[in-house]
Amino acid sequence: MAIKHTAVSYYGMNYVEHAKQDFREMREHGCDTVILALTEFDLDFWFPNINAIVRTAHEEGLRVLADTWGIGKYFGGENVSLFLQNNIHSRQVSAFTDEPLNAACFNTNAFRDYFMRLCTRLARETEVDGFFWDEPHYALPKAYASITGAQGDDWACRCPVCQAKFKAYYGYDMPKIMNDDVKQFRWREAMVILSETGKAIKEINPKAEITCCVHATINTYYVCELRGYDNWDLVASCPYVDVFSTTIISWDLPEKFFREITRRTVEVAKKYGKQSERWIMGYNKRPDDWSQIDKVVDMYEKMGVDRLGTWTYRGGYGTSVAAPDALELWDNIGRNYKRVLKK
Ligand SMILES: [Zn+2]
Repeated sequence: MAIKHTAVSYYGMNYVEHAKQDFREMREHGCDTVILALTEFDLDFWFPNINAIVRTAHEEGLRVLADTWGIGKYFGGENVSLFLQNNIHSRQVSAFTDEPLNAACFNTNAFRDYFMRLCTRLARETEVDGFFWDEPHYALPKAYASITGAQGDDWACRCPVCQAKFKAYYGYDMPKIMNDDVKQFRWREAMVILSETGKAIKEINPKAEITCCVHATINTYYVCELRGYDNWDLVASCPYVDVFSTTIISWDLPEKFFREITRRTVEVAKKYGKQSERWIMGYNKRPDDWSQIDKVVDMYEKMGVDRLGTWTYRGGYGTSVAAPDALELWDNIGRNYKRVLKK
């Protein structure tokens, strides 16, 4: 087994000459791929600069993936959303209270078109090697297995658009209590936006690769996050997804949990002939002992993971989600990347 790619995410979309230095540091830390965490502000305000950043990364020997980071609060990420600022409609709605939520409904034509425009513009006007779809999700619910929140009975989305689509398909009003039809509806609709956009990207650039990274949750009979992408077979079997990835696990969770998520990630990816990717927590927390990084990386490699990803450059140094000893964490991840990346 061998690790084929080692990625790290990056926020700095401002000045090419600064990015160049950072890309050199990534190479020195054993990275062969940079995942550009593109905010809606970057894609709007800094768009003229994005391809210069992409070209610079290529010059420094890095592959470049565009992460549509936190867009519409449909994807994971701490950044703010222009879509939510500029649209008072097309939001997800709570099933129990009918209140609009602070997340775009990705089953509306308005958001589907918005996302399509952003991705196809990047595919046409930049030289990115691919796209990274980072933790797409319905706003509610979550389960205790998630690192991002607790379980609730309320769910989304029961907006007018979702209700009309549900009724047209099943022939009765969308219920407020989640049933099997609602679960199936949410899974199916969740894949429409990604499939349509993936198809459009590949029509523009057949070489563009697409990674879909879903929450690393247990998803058994008893425990399921129910955020729309927890049916891993549906995600990995999508013909436009090249890499099936599951997201970061906190260093505090038991080794058994790492092992179980990794086993299932590799298994599902292989079943559909896709590459698998597992992540390393390079922000927010550090392991008590640096050797835990070595152990987890060894486990990933031995279990047949194709690619490693780390969130984020320099351990999030200088941000509100920086890890303690962020630079030392980054150095330890770099040491491991250099150790396992297939030459
Ligand atoms: Zn909706």
